[in-house]
Amino acid sequence: MRAVKLTSPGTLELVETPIPEPGPGQVRVKVAGAGLCHSDLHVLHLKSPWPGPALTLGHEGSGWIDALGAGVTGVTEGDPVLVNLIWSCGHCRPCVMGRDNACVSGGRHNHPPTPGLGPDGAMAEYMLVPVRHALPLGDIDPVTAGPLADAALTPMRAINSVRDRLTPGSTAVVIGVGGLGHLAVQILHASTSARIIAVDMSDDKLDLARRHGADLAVDSRGDAAEQILAESDGYGVDAVFDFAGVQPTVDLATSIVAPEGVVRLVGLGGGGLRFGADADTRALPWGVDIRKSYGGTLADLTEVIALAAQQKLTVESTVYPLDDFQRAFDDLDAGRVTGRAILQP
Ligand code: NAD
Ligand code: ZN
Repeated sequence: MRAVKLTSPGTLELVETPIPEPGPGQVRVKVAGAGLCHSDLHVLHLKSPWPGPALTLGHEGSGWIDALGAGVTGVTEGDPVLVNLIWSCGHCRPCVMGRDNACVSGGRHNHPPTPGLGPDGAMAEYMLVPVRHALPLGDIDPVTAGPLADAALTPMRAINSVRDRLTPGSTAVVIGVGGLGHLAVQILHASTSARIIAVDMSDDKLDLARRHGADLAVDSRGDAAEQILAESDGYGVDAVFDFAGVQPTVDLATSIVAPEGVVRLVGLGGGGLRFGADADTRALPWGVDIRKSYGGTLADLTEVIALAAQQKLTVESTVYPLDDFQRAFDDLDAGRVTGRAILQP
């Protein structure tokens, strides 16, 4: 089968590799589509070689069950499935308490096993998945469903963690209307009463946000902080979700959040926080609740699938043949992708 592998820092190759055989507790999934996440670009641009054998990328996979390993019951060949992002163990204390995105298998600094970031991922014709992490898709199209497993799951967790704040009269700001951000806007629109302000730096992304329910789209090439503060009488907004995480967006988040408001940092752009007691406009107000938000839980993913099944969540996508992976990566890197790029084997 063909697979897109990271063969050295900065280099991806389409490699011919044997079709894998499912082991005990695993299913083999025939991949229908694999979403291309900005995190894949971060991995591609790592300075040091990936440890271990060349990695097949792709942590947003969906397809059909194709073969069952020993002991697997309850699923049938041909079932359409979404591959969960975080292959938690299901037994440790965080897992049992429903915080499986913090499964102890990840240790303190790494993350639990994730396809395409450890085990071989979805940018291939087939992949192996622990059956517990192959979720039924029902009638949702498997070709474009993959991004639900991360680009929708991750915003769902960030939003669920502040849901009690998103009451009528509240305002939520989504910074970065890319793969994750355009789904965050839809989740906020479909499942909260918050007024939604979206921020990006390109006209297409601002249009994308408006099409999916943003009440206001703000161009960060202008003075976004001033404009958003003016919308909240200078006091600030209830919740800010940063899906870029670069210094200008972290500064924007801390400039617009209200006292006792919440900031969810999702983007991995390397921005830093300042929280001294100074009166700098970019310093945090008192009482702000900040989280470096990671992925989501199986419960969050179940909610994502339910919203998608109700057609309240749509992955806007451009589908590329798997062999054309380089063009897809280049388009994402250059900011030319609206919504998500998907590779189809
Ligand atoms: P993307 O490239 O699809 O979207 C990023 C968006 O941010 C783009 O629309 C871009 O125009 C916008 N942006 C960048 N700089 C901006 C600025 N200064 N002002 C306004 N908008 C700006 O990326 P994605 O796949 O949605 O991923 C977003 C980030 O989230 C990445 O850093 C990715 O690695 C990270 N991520 C984190 C998790 C997690 O669990 N924490 C999970 C998935 C992805
Ligand atoms: Zn991702």
